Amino acid sequence: MPGTLYIVATPIGNLEDMTFRAVRILREADLIAAEDTRHSRKLLSHFGISRPLTSYFDHNARLKGEAILQRLREGGAVALITDAGTPCISDPGYQLVRDAVAEGIAVVPVPGASAAVTALSASGLPTDAFLFAGFLPNRQGKRRERLAELSGRREVIIFYESPNRLPATLADMQETMGGREVVIARELTKLHEEFLRGPLAEVRETIDNREQVKGEVVILVAPAAEEEPQVADLDALLHRYLGQKGLSLKDAVARAAAESGRPRREVYAEALRVKDEGGLQPEVSADRNDQED
Ligand code: SAM
Repeated sequence: MPGTLYIVATPIGNLEDMTFRAVRILREADLIAAEDTRHSRKLLSHFGISRPLTSYFDHNARLKGEAILQRLREGGAVALITDAGTPCISDPGYQLVRDAVAEGIAVVPVPGASAAVTALSASGLPTDAFLFAGFLPNRQGKRRERLAELSGRREVIIFYESPNRLPATLADMQETMGGREVVIARELTKLHEEFLRGPLAEVRETIDNREQVKGEVVILVAPAAEEEPQVADLDALLHRYLGQKGLSLKDAVARAAAESGRPRREVYAEALRVKDEGGLQPEVSADRNDQED
């Protein structure tokens, strides 16, 4: 019988966010694979966990992945942890999970903290749909390209970012995505936890005025606001269609409503106002049923 690969989330700052289940699974594991063994040893000793530990990070993933898979094939219980939060989420683990799944080895998630969802939950931005975009490219050209690509999305976009790069990234966002609401979630679950919320330009100014940004940050970007059709646009449409030969009031209203995206009843009221004010007389059409229904 093959063993089980456990994907175990650990705290993103506050040790109290470790779950009872995570502690039990790690205590019972035959092997713990950690992104950084020195870093994880501190966490494990805090919870009195003493199990064999091996490293698993991006640059040794191929070699170590094979050894871990072998252990799983032999029936071992292996727990994967990273430095903070949920493995595989902008962290090592994806390839191992994929290989285990391909071999029919059970992969069991042990959920806990993840900075993206933690930030979103208290951001005050819409939570019904979001796009996790991970880290942006390092090079400015590629970063701007990526931001421009994402700028039309209708969901909240969540980015991970390093504090040093935050000012440059906010500048690029303003260039490529324009004015919109953003939230910077800094040092989540830690002593100096902070949320900066507001229009991009204001949040950027706050960050630019700081000598240095410290700690870890998540950037959340609100969707671009849907452009409300302006009354002036609607007026222009009504003037065009109400004055058009052979078009009844009802037809003119239907066209203006379709083009402006406004409710027909509202457009009808506006059409009557335009007619009264401007003395526009649409030509009498064969269709006598001019009343809006
Ligand atoms: N696997 C982790 C998770 O589930 O959130 C993410 C690991 S990724 C290498 C590290 C990035 O996550 C940081 O650069 C930062 O953007 C974000 N992050 C992690 N911990 C955070 C915290 N306490 N506060 C704010 N952002 C954090």
